[in-house]
Amino acid sequence: MIPDEVIAEVLAHTDIVGLIGSYLPLKSAGRTHKALCPFHTEKTPSFTVNPERQIFHCFGCGEGGDAISFLVKHEHLGFLEAVRVLAERAGVSLPAERGGGPAAADSRVPLYEVHRLALQHYRDNLGGTHGNAARTYLEGRGVSAELIERFALGYALPRWDGLLQVLKTNGYHDRVLETAGLAIPRPKGTGHYDRFRNRLMIPIWDVSGKVIGFGGRALDSAEVKYINSPETPLYRKGAHLYGLNLAAKAIREQKTAIVVEGYFDAIMLHAHGFGNAVAALGTALTTDQARLLARYAQSVVLLFDPDAAGVGAARRSLEHLINVDLEWRIVVLPDALDPDAFVRTHGRDAFTAALAGGVDLVDFFLDRRVSGLNIGDPVQLAKCVDGLIEVIAQIESPVRREGYLTRLAQRSGITPRTLFEAIAKKRTLTRTESQPAPAKAAAPPSAEEHLLILALQSPELARRIAAALLPEDIGDSVLRQIYTTYVQAGQTCGPMSLLPPEVQPRLSALLAAERADDEAAARIVDDCLVRIQQRRAQRDRTALRQAMESAERQGNQSDALKLLANHPSMKGKTN
Ligand SMILES: [Zn+2]
Repeated sequence: MIPDEVIAEVLAHTDIVGLIGSYLPLKSAGRTHKALCPFHTEKTPSFTVNPERQIFHCFGCGEGGDAISFLVKHEHLGFLEAVRVLAERAGVSLPAERGGGPAAADSRVPLYEVHRLALQHYRDNLGGTHGNAARTYLEGRGVSAELIERFALGYALPRWDGLLQVLKTNGYHDRVLETAGLAIPRPKGTGHYDRFRNRLMIPIWDVSGKVIGFGGRALDSAEVKYINSPETPLYRKGAHLYGLNLAAKAIREQKTAIVVEGYFDAIMLHAHGFGNAVAALGTALTTDQARLLARYAQSVVLLFDPDAAGVGAARRSLEHLINVDLEWRIVVLPDALDPDAFVRTHGRDAFTAALAGGVDLVDFFLDRRVSGLNIGDPVQLAKCVDGLIEVIAQIESPVRREGYLTRLAQRSGITPRTLFEAIAKKRTLTRTESQPAPAKAAAPPSAEEHLLILALQSPELARRIAAALLPEDIGDSVLRQIYTTYVQAGQTCGPMSLLPPEVQPRLSALLAAERADDEAAARIVDDCLVRIQQRRAQRDRTALRQAMESAERQGNQSDALKLLANHPSMKGKTN
């Protein structure tokens, strides 16, 4: 257990803007910084980072907290792991480390370290005599020494314990390697063996440039072509994009990302000057990946293999992509070439020209489905149109939906009205079937919230409010807790991440609220206190009436009168 004051010390040495800025592109906006929210899909940034308060808060989905909460939510770290990461960043030593105790074996810290050591080992192998065959293979693919360096390519030895031995000498247990996805337990007996053997090793990084997994390309044609790291605490399928750490800057500058399927597609595009290329690390793009791209890009060009599998993958991606606010275009390269082969055969200019020929993603499927269709055949027509309606119905923007509908009408010969009805029907159906959880809309603050916002902004107002507001005036238990802790007890906001999870976003919402000027603030306090006192009086009258009725029912008139006489409203009258 880490004492609270150490946690406070870690937070005091952490700049939340620097921390969150290493994960999201933050733009300065007055006293705060803004970005598209990583926790929900949005078009305009409502995610704010407040350096003065050292908090983040999203006005769209309501997520919020401090630097520790951010790591817990964004990086899926445990609380202690998040504290440890921040402590390391800030150079604060933690009591557990002071006592020399090792970090927990399941935390992510040793997993990063294991990946770092594995990367070094694989790179050394490729550079050494064992790496001759792998280097020859890379030469054959046109991968220069400079590219090997830039993408940190390596080689796994044709041994069962090449990596295991290295990590053992560095003091790591086999099980850490298993958790890292780099070793596999032997099916019979005890012990482990290396997952990657006799393979060209391609490190996979997260956005911040830490190695979180590997792709292994077989050098022996009898083997499975690619093996990738399994899901681990560091690597989640569908959450990362290969090469994004290297491509982020170019994507931001050009506002466009190129998404390819394979590692070597991305590598060779970088080699030919397309530094904004990333690879999907799987067949179909996920919503998480689309959101990741939306942090850097305004438009995305998808390059899928023109074969059936590639188009199928693009089709599966479609529903994840259409509502992420990016301009999606698809490019199918001629001669059934993948981007790697294409750019090596035809060169940079031909690839640029191919990119310019990209078509809108939905249009692409519209064209594919409609072309070659016998419009005279009603059964065929209905089948084709149904599939397309399904896609169009999922588009949230009415304007875009109508645009595609018009195009579908032109191509299919079906009247826009009929299509419109079909889409409307589909939308009501899917809505009732699976209503997507709407982002918690930012409701205007209640009187209690207004008071708390102002109390947290000014100690002077806090004293005034504390003198007039009773905890029981606040109906909402979370707000009441915030009031008693931070306003009545006069605590400064200590580590927010120590608060219960339901309290953190509520508190961050209050702390992130706009600052009112002094005069307006005083007026708001007056208004809110009057409203709350009216409610209190109403509540008291109701309670009194109920007590009196109950006393009268029991035939106890004198008790009822006593109740009335002792009631604060009567006292107020006689004083
Ligand atoms: Zn959000």
